[in-house]
Amino acid sequence: MIIAIDGPAGSGKSTVAKILANRLGFKYLDTGAMYRALTWKAMQRRVDLRDETALCQLTDQIAIEFRSAGKSLSVFVDGENVTEEIRLPSVTNNVHYISDTPGVRQRMVKLQRTLASEGNTIAEGRDMGTVVFPHAEKKFFLDAEIEERARRRHGEFKPSDKRISYADVIKDIETRDRRDTTRNHSPLVRSSDAICINTTKMAIEEVVNLIIKQIGYAGKNESV
Ligand code: C5P
Repeated sequence: MIIAIDGPAGSGKSTVAKILANRLGFKYLDTGAMYRALTWKAMQRRVDLRDETALCQLTDQIAIEFRSAGKSLSVFVDGENVTEEIRLPSVTNNVHYISDTPGVRQRMVKLQRTLASEGNTIAEGRDMGTVVFPHAEKKFFLDAEIEERARRRHGEFKPSDKRISYADVIKDIETRDRRDTTRNHSPLVRSSDAICINTTKMAIEEVVNLIIKQIGYAGKNESV
């Protein structure tokens, strides 16, 4: 079974997807982390982020892996743990070059489908319900007002990042939303058959419970 969860930055989809995967015993596929991992590697290797051929070659060469230990999920590129590095602002600011490169997306889609073929999966990103898993058993689109999304993002910052103001976070999210929704390839858009959840005033638990109710499955040995 594949559950697709899409939505903009700060809509709560990562947190919700992680909890759902744990609770249902599903695999969690964080596709944003994959685009981030490739961006990080391209920056490390000083690959021109506008050079599609070079980016495609890099995508073919590197191994992106997820490894889980208990409740934590780490991202590895060529055996190196990059879980923290891929969240750096420099990666966040450059990921749009990678995610708007059609050859890269084609390769990512293939890899994402392979990873999901290994078992029941919660697939989270921007194009899960529209492009990667159009036949997913259930699709959800999470959204929230921009002020709330920025507040959540700001709250997640480490003390060392706190010098970035709330106003700057709003600006960053606006820029990312614009890039993600207007790009030429697989833009962020709600699939017509996705259930839309506005999480602005909802607690994480409420969102998780709502999704479980819609799926009609609460994990082995549990009833909905
Ligand atoms: O979800 P996260 O914020 O980690 O995603 C980082 C970026 O990766 C997004 O802003 C988007 O440009 C890109 N992305 C994408 N397609 C996905 C997941 C993420 O283009 N399925």
